[in-house]
Amino acid sequence: MKVTVAGAGVFGLATALALADAGCDVTVFDPAPATSGASGVAAGMIAPVFEAVLDVEARPHFGLLLAARDLWPALAARAGVDIDRAGAMAVGSVDWLDAVAASMTRLGLHPSEVPAGRLAPGLLESLRTGLMTREDWRLEPAAAIAALRAAAQAAGVIFRRAAATGMEGADRLVVATGVAQGLADLAPQLRALEPIKGHILQVDLPTPRQVVVRGEGVYAAPSVGGLRVGATMEAGVADPAADPARAAPLAAAGAQLFPRIAAAPRELLAGVRAATADGLPLVGTASDPRVILAVGARRNGWLLAPLVARAAAAAVLGADPGRFGERLAANRLSLRPDAH
Ligand SMILES: Cc1cc2nc3c(=O)[nH]c(=O)nc-3n(C[C@H](O)[C@H](O)[C@H](O)COP(=O)(O)OP(=O)(O)OC[C@H]3O[C@@H](n4cnc5c(N)ncnc54)[C@H](O)[C@@H]3O)c2cc1C
Repeated sequence: MKVTVAGAGVFGLATALALADAGCDVTVFDPAPATSGASGVAAGMIAPVFEAVLDVEARPHFGLLLAARDLWPALAARAGVDIDRAGAMAVGSVDWLDAVAASMTRLGLHPSEVPAGRLAPGLLESLRTGLMTREDWRLEPAAAIAALRAAAQAAGVIFRRAAATGMEGADRLVVATGVAQGLADLAPQLRALEPIKGHILQVDLPTPRQVVVRGEGVYAAPSVGGLRVGATMEAGVADPAADPARAAPLAAAGAQLFPRIAAAPRELLAGVRAATADGLPLVGTASDPRVILAVGARRNGWLLAPLVARAAAAAVLGADPGRFGERLAANRLSLRPDAH
């Protein structure tokens, strides 16, 4: 079967690889791979636990997030993606940590108290105790994009540096265009997506190996050459350009974790997440049975990618979408009245 995949973010790449492995003849279109999408600016956290604990919209989906994470080792082995399993640690005020611990316990987890500075050298000294989980992992987004792309290419996927405007001569079209609306005439469900812009700081701060640190309203994730400190959640904002005014507040928030962030060289990055009303992506057949959606990752596109790729590839192949198929179904949300 001939398949066009629109979008070379993590959803498009992972789906293209799954389809090529299933024997499809796959072409991926993207006018600006790795520069215009959200995938490249992300922190790369694969974080079912702290996303469910810290983001009320993710909480009801904890089981699904965990299941997605559990598909990562196979995808990582297939594509040559390195997964960092050092874990993640929450630090903050005693009251906040109590609330985090209670929330982790409600999820059936057993948070362990750890000496925070030992797991994250350079941490503000007053942050003595951390709540640790090794259930949250991490990857380097740029390296993972390169690895997924190389694996797809080696499996026969063709890449074209152009926007897809339709089926492009294929039997099926996978729409993995993130927040973009260019294909909404073919897939009206895209109009249910809401943009949530995110700014993040890449801080040039050589650090020893350390865990991801989650604070109150800010995180610092290890990243090549330093830390990624994020991130803003700007609902309704679709303009992907970085706004320099966002850098100082992010650096100040980061310095509440690692004081050296305040004076470290930094680069401000921005991306736009695509969100749905129920916090889960739209995956599966759209109104046109030839068109399959893989969009709407909100904060967790990297975490969700293997699960989304599996369900999207199943929809292309007419196979069983798996146990989360209905919860992800592309047709499950009604469109806003003003969305037509
Ligand atoms: C600041 C920030 C931090 C984040 N941190 C994390 C994190 O730590 N962990 C996590 O799991 N998630 C994180 N996310 C979320 C994650 O980045 C996204 O959910 C995910 O990258 C979305 O991937 P995608 O493939 O759906 O879309 P995108 O990465 O946005 O890719 C869509 C692609 O489609 C292309 N495109 C658009 N229109 C067309 C067309 N007509 N034809 C062809 N191509 C087209 C675009 O050029 C783009 O490359 C973060 C997001 C942000 C903004």
